[in-house]
This record gives sequence, C-alpha cells and structure tokens, in this order.
Amino acid sequence: MEFLTSGAVEVSGVFGYCVIMPGNALLRLHESAPFSRVVPWRRRGLCLVLSSPSGGGKTTITRRLLRYDSSLRLSVSATTRPRRGDEEEGRDYYFLSLAEFEERRASGWFVETAEVFGNFYGTPRAPVEAALREGASMVFDIDWQGAEQLVRELGGDVVTVFLLPPDLGSLRERLKLRAQDGADVMEARLGGALREVGHWVDYDYVLVNHDLDEATAYVQSIFLAERLRRERQSGAADVIDEKLHP
Ligand code: 5GP
Repeated sequence: MEFLTSGAVEVSGVFGYCVIMPGNALLRLHESAPFSRVVPWRRRGLCLVLSSPSGGGKTTITRRLLRYDSSLRLSVSATTRPRRGDEEEGRDYYFLSLAEFEERRASGWFVETAEVFGNFYGTPRAPVEAALREGASMVFDIDWQGAEQLVRELGGDVVTVFLLPPDLGSLRERLKLRAQDGADVMEARLGGALREVGHWVDYDYVLVNHDLDEATAYVQSIFLAERLRRERQSGAADVIDEKLHP
C-alpha cells in the first residue's frame, strides 16, 4: 500500500486497485489477495452495472476492471444483432437468431432483456445466480432498461453506475470514430444515446468520463467501497464473534 502524490491517475499493475483520495493523492492497492486479507470471511458478491450512451467508454472501462481484478466476472449478453468485425462468439456476445432469442426468453433463460436500436439483447440468468451464490461479483455492460430490470430482480445486490460523455459533441465524434455501422445507423444511435442520457437520474452513481484512466479509477473505487459494505460481508459476524467470545 502506498500513497502517490501525482495528480495523474496511475492504474498500474495487474489486479491493482487505484483509488483517488482527497487532495489528489492516490491510494494504490495491489492484487486481489489483500482484499481477502482486509475482508477475510465469506462475502456476498455484487452486480456492478455500467451504462452509458454508445461510445461513452464503458466497454473499455469494463475490460480494464476485469484486467485489474481477477475475481470479477463479465456478464456476456446474448443479442440478435449481427456480429461486428472483431467480435467473438461467447467473448463479446452470444449471437442468436430472433427465433432462438424468443425461445430462450420464453423459457426464463434471461434475467433481463431489452430492445435497443431494433435488436434484442439479454443477460443470461444462470451465470449471475452462480456468481452471487459463490460470493463473486459481476460487471454488466447493459443499457438503462436492463439496469432497471436487474434492480427489480436482484435488489440490493445491484449497484448501478452511469457514465456521462464530457459533452454531446464529443459523443458525436466518438460515434463517428466507430463508424462501423453506416451514417443512418449512426444517426439512430445518436438519437438513442440522447434518450439513454436522460436516464442518468435512476442510477446510484454518476460520473463524467473526461479521461478513461480517471473514469476507470473512479469506477474501481465505487466497486471497492461497495464490496466493503457491511451488509455484503455475510460471514463477518461469525468470525468476529468467535474471536471476541472464543
Ligand atoms: P452494442 O450493439 O453497441 O454492442 O450495444 C448496444 C447497447 O446495448 C449498449 O448500450 C449496451 O450496453 C446494450 N446492451 C448490451 N447487452 C445488453 C443486455 O444484455 N441487456 C441490455 N438491456 N442492454 C444490453
């Protein structure tokens, strides 16, 4: 554990946490192991939902969270949208036909589903239930409709974070940079992005993504603080009582 005084946010070291402290000092925590030393008992996992308009940086931040914390799991969604160039089945999405999607939805295979830009998306239920049962945490890159349904289904196990773009002009730029979908789809996505932003008021945490390193560090700090909440430390009472009254 060490304090850095630099104003820049340094997110270094695999599995490291980087938490911004008042006065721009940074408390850097390395490895997942020290976390289990700080909380050395059974814990309840949590579902960390990241939403932002497309191009808001949440995919990059999600990847970084996973890289820095080996215990965090990614929720891989299913979608009916066509696969984009570099996307892989099972890593980025499960790509389903509309009929397959409908069948799974009818059988309760999803914990939440939503229609986004004319395509269907859904979060498979089983990995979420397994993670919570095993005390592991999961990160979700889903939209406001999914966030709302997850909160309804899983209540206090869900923590929601909304990432706002620094300004809507830059959102347009970021969407252009992607430009994988053609001009009309991009316009539709921009309209959808503006509607998505309107839902920021329903989230637990809201931050502006001026800089990816900085935003990642803030999301990590939210995740860390939420994991330390007393009510998630389900095994604490037994261990502490045992020590106090052997
Ligand atoms: P994209 O097609 O660009 O990968 O994703 C479009 C939007 O759908 C993004 O806002 C993304 O967060 C959202 N999304 C992806 N998977 C899911 C899901 O399983 N459920 C919901 N509700 N939204 C999703």
